[in-house]
Amino acid sequence: MINENKKKSTSNGQLYVVATPIGNLNDISLRALEVLQQVALIAAEDPRHSQKLLAHFNINTPLTALHEHNEIKRSHDILSQLLQGKEIALITDAGTPLISDPGFYLVREARAEGVTVTPIPGPTALITALSVSGLPVDRFVFEGFPPAKPIKRQHYLQTLREEMRTLIFYESPHRIMHLLTDLAAIFGADRYVVIARELTKLYETIHGDQVQQLRQWLAAQPQQQQGEFVVIVQGAKHIMDKTELDEQAIATLKILLAELPLKQAVKLAAAITGEKRNVLYDYALQDVNKSI
Ligand code: SAM
Repeated sequence: MINENKKKSTSNGQLYVVATPIGNLNDISLRALEVLQQVALIAAEDPRHSQKLLAHFNINTPLTALHEHNEIKRSHDILSQLLQGKEIALITDAGTPLISDPGFYLVREARAEGVTVTPIPGPTALITALSVSGLPVDRFVFEGFPPAKPIKRQHYLQTLREEMRTLIFYESPHRIMHLLTDLAAIFGADRYVVIARELTKLYETIHGDQVQQLRQWLAAQPQQQQGEFVVIVQGAKHIMDKTELDEQAIATLKILLAELPLKQAVKLAAAITGEKRNVLYDYALQDVNKSI
């Protein structure tokens, strides 16, 4: 029986959200195979694509398509089958469903209807890339695909320029050079970036450098511009490294910090100097931490 430990007594069927490999078929889990073998139906982003994976493991479970163009209607069909007590698995072309992939609507509605939704964990490109990037992993943000249109992408990157956590993007081979060009222009040529290409596949490449150099390295090798990419960007350095505050503002803040609680000192410093309260606050926090 599937997932015996977790199976709850419910007449509302069960939806399994099953991660599949992002390249190397050996990355499928034993639990994923067991579930895919035993469910009544598999909802797949592209049944023809998934058929190859299933055939490789001799799995003959019927498939139905659930992709971005039929997601809502097909989710309702699947939901009604779940509510009749069926066990159904959701998979996508690669990696973990819902992560830049279809499935959100189905999972949300299934949970709302009281269907048990069980994750079968496995590969996802962003975590695979992050784990080998050498960039901080304690705090990170996943941004999915940046906008495709140049102006929209540039505005969007502007909003992320000051983000201090490690940033993770997905990008297509057609736009990888454009993204690196915009990153160099907006985040600065010296921002450190790692590209993780064709992970778990034959031509897997993980390469990091300052974004301007990385861009040149990639431009010189058209064959490296093919395939699938995760782009990992170092977070913005702390405000203190950037000397964004002028000396007078820092001096004012320090005098106030010596006499007042942090919040009050920041509030007054903002009123006196006209600097942004959050910038002063970040500086004050670092200053206090340094002196502990
Ligand atoms: N659901 C998937 C996951 O869990 O990572 C992501 C699906 S999204 C439609 C496809 C994008 O993920 C690709 O364009 C690429 O940015 C990234 N990706 C997927 N497989 C990859 C791989 N083997 N190497 C590098 N990036 C990959």
